[in-house]
Formats: sequence, C-alpha cells, structure tokens
Amino acid sequence: MSISELAGIDVPTGMLIGGEWTKGAATFPVIDPATEEPLAEVADGTVADALDAVGAAQAALPGWAATPPRQRAEVLRKAFELMTARAEQFARLMSAENGKSLRDARGEAAYAAEFFRWYAEEAVRVEGTLLRAPSGANRIITLHQPIGVALLITPWNFPAAMATRKIGPALAAGCPVVLKPAEDTPLTALALAGLLSEAGVPDGVVNVVTTASPAPVVSAMLADPRVRKLSFTGSTEVGKVLLGQAAQQVISSSMELGGNAPFIVFEDADIPAAVEGALIAKMRNGGEACTAANRFYVHQAVADEFVAAFAARMRALVVGPGLDEATELGPLVNEAARAKVAGLVDDATGHGAALVTGGRKPDRRGYFYEPTLLDAVPADAGLLGTEIFGPVAPVVRFSDEADAVRWANATEFGLVSYVYTDDLRRGLRVAEALETGMVGLNRGLVSDPAAPFGGVKQSGLGREGGHDGLLEYTETKYIATDW
Ligand code: NAD
Repeated sequence: MSISELAGIDVPTGMLIGGEWTKGAATFPVIDPATEEPLAEVADGTVADALDAVGAAQAALPGWAATPPRQRAEVLRKAFELMTARAEQFARLMSAENGKSLRDARGEAAYAAEFFRWYAEEAVRVEGTLLRAPSGANRIITLHQPIGVALLITPWNFPAAMATRKIGPALAAGCPVVLKPAEDTPLTALALAGLLSEAGVPDGVVNVVTTASPAPVVSAMLADPRVRKLSFTGSTEVGKVLLGQAAQQVISSSMELGGNAPFIVFEDADIPAAVEGALIAKMRNGGEACTAANRFYVHQAVADEFVAAFAARMRALVVGPGLDEATELGPLVNEAARAKVAGLVDDATGHGAALVTGGRKPDRRGYFYEPTLLDAVPADAGLLGTEIFGPVAPVVRFSDEADAVRWANATEFGLVSYVYTDDLRRGLRVAEALETGMVGLNRGLVSDPAAPFGGVKQSGLGREGGHDGLLEYTETKYIATDW
C-alpha cells in the first residue's frame, strides 16, 4: 500500500520549490518505526535545491508582504478548515512515519490546525504605536514590518505542529518561508505544503526542502544573505551550531531547544490529579516531547501513594503499533532513540535506582520500549541530567520545598516545569522561583496556540504562539517625525 493510500490523502514525495513539485536527483527512505519497513522514498534535496527555494521565497516576498492582512488571514483560515476536515488523514500519516499512537496523532492534528486559526486571527492585529517624544519636539512612530525570508527547521517528534507553529505566524506577518523538516518525518511536511497551496498560498511563499544531509543544506541557506530569519526547533546541541552559523549574517534567530522538565508533587497535592497530570506530562507522545516531565520530585509523605498509583497506570498502558486503535504507546522513532533510553535506564539501576515497572524492550519487531518507572533515583544517575525522550519516569523523594526547587533548577535547561499543590500561595511562590519559560500549575499540559511557548537558559530564545510568536517574524521600524 502506498503512503497516500495508507493515509487517505495525497502525500507528495517531491520537494515544493517556487510552486513546482520537484523530484530531485536522488531519494532517501522514510521508515515505519513500528515495522522497520520503508514507507516511501522522498526527494533528497541538495544545496542547489535549497538555494533555489531561497530564491523562490525571495521572489515571492514583495507580493506576499504587500498582500492585505485580511487576505493573508483568509488563506490561513482556509488552511485551518482544510486541515480540520482532514485531521484523521493527517493523524494516520503522522502515526505511520513517527510511530506515535493514533490518539496522540489526533491530538497533534487538532493542535497543529489551531495554529492556522490563531494566526488567521492575529494577521490583522500587527499594531504599531504613536507617541509624543518626551521633549515635546516631535512624534515617534513605530511599525512592525515583515522580516523577510524565513528558514524554518523542524524536528521529528511533532511533524505537523512544529511546522504550523512556524508557518502560521510567518505567513500572517507577510514572510515567505523555506521549511526543512526532519529526515525521519518529511511526509507530513510535504502533505502540509500541498494543503497550503490548495488553501491559496501563492507560489514561492511556502517552499519545502527535504534532505538526508541537513548540515550542508542548512549551512548554505544560513550563509545566503537573502535569509533574514531562522526559526529552529530541535536539540540544544544542533541549535548552538546553527546560532553560530546565523551569527555570520546576523540572522534573527528563534530557538526552541531541549528540555529537562521537573515535575514537583507537594504533600498537600491532590494525588489522583497529580497522577493524571504525570501521565500526560510524561507519556503524551510516548515521552518524545521537549515538554516531557523528565524528573519527578515527590514529597516523601505522599511518595508511596503517588508511585503506586502512577506505576499502576504505566503498567496498564497498551503498547503496540501507532496505527492500531487500541494502542496507547507506540514505538520510539528509531533504534538510536531506543538504545539511548535503554542505556539511561540501565545506568540508573546500576547506580541503585529501584525498578518499579518496565525497563525492557518488548520481544517484537519495531523500536518499542516498555513504560518504565524508577524510584529512589540517586542524584548521580545520568537520566536526571539528560533529556530522556522516551517512556521513562524517574522519581526522586524530597522533604523540603527549598531542596525541591534547588534540584529542579540544577540543570542547564529551562523549558517547562510542573507543580502540584493545593496551596495556591506555595504554587505561585514555587512557579516564580523555577527557572523555566513555562510552568504547569496543577496541569500536566501547557501547550496552547494562544500562549507564548518557549524556554530560558539553554532551552531557547524567543517565543512561539500567542502574539509574541507573530512578532518574531517582524522587524520594528521607528520613524521620528515632525508635523
Ligand atoms: P535535532 O536537533 O537532531 O534535529 C532537528 C532538526 O535539525 C531536524 O530537521 C534535523 O534535520 C536538523 N539538523 C540536524 N543536524 C543538523 C545540522 N548539523 N545542521 C543543520 N540542521 C540539522 O533534533 P530532533 O532529534 O529532530 O528533535 C528532538 C529535539 O528537539 C529534542 O531535544 C527536543 O527537546 C527538541 N524539541 C524542542 C521543542 C521546543 O519547542 N522547545 C519542541 C520539539 C522538540
């Protein structure tokens, strides 16, 4: 069965450059992580293809920037409607190429479409200011102009949402884009590009370059002075490399990088609610989320109760291919990801952590790993300092609020943290003290297209979503005037 038949929509396998679908000189395979079999062959874009895409975007810039905001909004609104109508097909496509359960994939399809709706609404609200200079001598006008051609680089864990979270605001602001999706999951990006063309996006405004060699292709685009914006979502390691390259042309850079989220449960928390929140924060997307709870700090007075209830829920999760309706946990994206997770668990138990449930690769084809809970994890276990990116929950017990906050902050990452307490004063005090860009207070999920998503420290620069996400694709111009 072809990937288009499997998903139930047309899934292109060529690149979209300047409104033309091009096959490219070579191809690379996309693998189904549940079967380890190839799903499709996708165009392997070269440096020349990438520079053609930048040229097409640059040629489309004046027209798109001058398009009335209402018209841009209506194209995005149409994209929202098309994606909502095809949510099930997009869910199947993501499940096939990423491995995630259909339940997670359906959630992502809806979430991804919401970025088109939100930015359709924001496109008409790019406001400036007018004020009188303090001296009284003149007026100060500010306006936000489209920044120019934007290079968007996305990871494999949310193949649709990470793309729409960038394309939505870029198009709303008047910027054409070149999207370079992750090589593990390029098909969703290509299907999205087809959908955007159908929604009325003019030729050259959205270009997609797929490649199995991201390093030279991305470097060439960042060395091209026509690129004025880089929006990257991926690992901190690659983000640092790209920031260095962007610096050569002083390209404005938004970075959504890795996380190491603490999940703190205080003794006054509603424990059943904390367990529900933990399950979402840890197991949504099989733990392959930058927002995934990575370390559970649980007050010793409630730790036995929390661990027992959390372990029961983890044990009961149905593991299987993402496309099976009953599946709650699909495979990891590839063998390297599974080997990393298995290595971290072995290291933790080797250092004395107690294995409560899981800890094994199921005996079947596909990159599966059991839902795993570790208790009494010692401070020197590698997984407390590493982004696990898999279905593994390490629990550390604490007895003092100050210790919990100090341990939570003892990381170079700062994307999100979670706090469970029924004492609002404590909740807000701890939320203020945590060094993260976002906090879930009695919630295991923070992502929302209307909210500014992003991290501090080595988790990133800038924000996506909300109004802030739109401003990332604009430059502020100041005009001093007399009248
Ligand atoms: P990755 O950094 O390996 O890859 C991300 C993207 O960069 C891909 O498109 C890849 O092809 C490209 N890339 C890889 N090496 C490159 C290079 N040398 N030069 C140019 N481009 C290169 O990350 P990943 O494994 O795809 O995704 C997982 C990471 O993404 C995790 O660290 C996760 O936390 C992070 N992430 C962050 C957010 C966020 O919003 N903060 C969201 C999702 C994922």
